[in-house]
Amino acid sequence: MSRVVVIGGGVVGISCALTLQSQGHSVTVVEPGPVGEGASWASCGCIAVGEIVPLSQPGMLMKVPGWLLDSEAPLSLRPASALKLIPWFARFTANARRSKMRAITADLAQLTFAATDDFKAQLADVGHPELLVERPVIKLFDDDNDLATMRAAFDLAREFGCTIDQVSGHEAHEMDPAIAPDFKYAALLRDWSFVTDPKLLVEILMQSFTQRGGEIVSNAAVDFTRDGQHIQNVHTGDGRTLSADEFVVAAGTHSRVLAKKLNIPLRMEGVIGYSTALHDSGIDLRHTVFYAKGGFGITPYEDALAVAGTAEFADLNAQPDWNRADVLVKRAHRVLPGLRTEKFERRMGRRPFTPDTRPIIGRSRRLTNVTFATGHGQLGLTLGATTARLVADVIAGRVPSIDIQAFSPDRF
Ligand SMILES: Cc1cc2nc3c(=O)[nH]c(=O)nc-3n(C[C@H](O)[C@H](O)[C@H](O)COP(=O)(O)OP(=O)(O)OC[C@H]3O[C@@H](n4cnc5c(N)ncnc54)[C@H](O)[C@@H]3O)c2cc1C
Repeated sequence: MSRVVVIGGGVVGISCALTLQSQGHSVTVVEPGPVGEGASWASCGCIAVGEIVPLSQPGMLMKVPGWLLDSEAPLSLRPASALKLIPWFARFTANARRSKMRAITADLAQLTFAATDDFKAQLADVGHPELLVERPVIKLFDDDNDLATMRAAFDLAREFGCTIDQVSGHEAHEMDPAIAPDFKYAALLRDWSFVTDPKLLVEILMQSFTQRGGEIVSNAAVDFTRDGQHIQNVHTGDGRTLSADEFVVAAGTHSRVLAKKLNIPLRMEGVIGYSTALHDSGIDLRHTVFYAKGGFGITPYEDALAVAGTAEFADLNAQPDWNRADVLVKRAHRVLPGLRTEKFERRMGRRPFTPDTRPIIGRSRRLTNVTFATGHGQLGLTLGATTARLVADVIAGRVPSIDIQAFSPDRF
């Protein structure tokens, strides 16, 4: 069995740490911040099995000027970051071809269709199966035009095995009376489910890890020492040196900076999203609902309603623009009439997005003992447990049950 250092304690890193620990490895997690407060705490909480159609879609390039001009659009691009993002965007738009979309969809489906079982096994292992709520997620549409924007993505997802039922807006209102009755259509995403609080999830995973003897080093990984293709140590910001047999890089958007120290060029940007937890909202919502036109979803957490979403392309160091979170909350009244919004707590997260929407899972051929587990974009919560299983296979020298070639860190 090996000594493993996992860099990053978001949902992906801590999932890897737990799985490796359960397989007998001695595991240390390096995490500078409060647990789970990277991208993970801002998520909508969905186990988004059907979220397999990539973000890059035909006609994308034509939309970029609109994103630059309208800072409140569901997708936007920070003008100040636009120049820095050009290389990433060039790759992103190159993936917006139908043939590429299909290939990416197929690769993502392989992962997401394993996600629910892996996630349930993880929750059972830590003794908290109640964190997962197995109800379909509901997408709402104002009219035919609104529905038409999703049709191609729905058709492609169905082709790959997703179950999406179209119903009337009134039926959605009957399923969940908190939803406004006057949407024209709704789609029931039958394969999806949601967790009642993503931050709590990460905290519970971390607690289990430490209770079972796992060590957490509360600092940032800053550099490595190597002997040829073999990494010997990781150095932390407070001057510690940690040696191990194996290293897992799972630092979300910051993985790119660490990979650069290892001479591995990862292409990844942080696509900012916001989540506002509304306390005493006066609404009893039972499902996660998405209002695509508004660019957000609403998830019933255990003690709050979380309004989360938007995709803001900005460089890694860009500061949050809380106005975007507030815009989402205003728009949430369209979905939930009577929503009270006085008591709120805002969160921001950077989804680690690769230009091809595929995560980065596996080893680089340039290093013998480093495994990457990052770049999960809008699917990190969904794929944490599945990624952990695959990473554990790689480290144990087993052939992973899913072919991870398409997720290689060397593909950039
Ligand atoms: C608004 C929003 C909604 C979303 N909704 C969903 C959803 O419904 N379903 C879903 O599956 N996903 C969703 N996501 C995406 C999901 O949140 C991310 O994919 C996921 O959190 C990524 O997890 P991670 O562990 O890779 O990164 P993070 O959660 O960002 O964790 C990385 C960790 O690494 C640490 N770190 C950084 N630098 C270093 C360093 N040098 N050394 C050591 N540690 C370091 C950070 O402190 C951080 O804790 C959403 C995201 C957002 C923003």
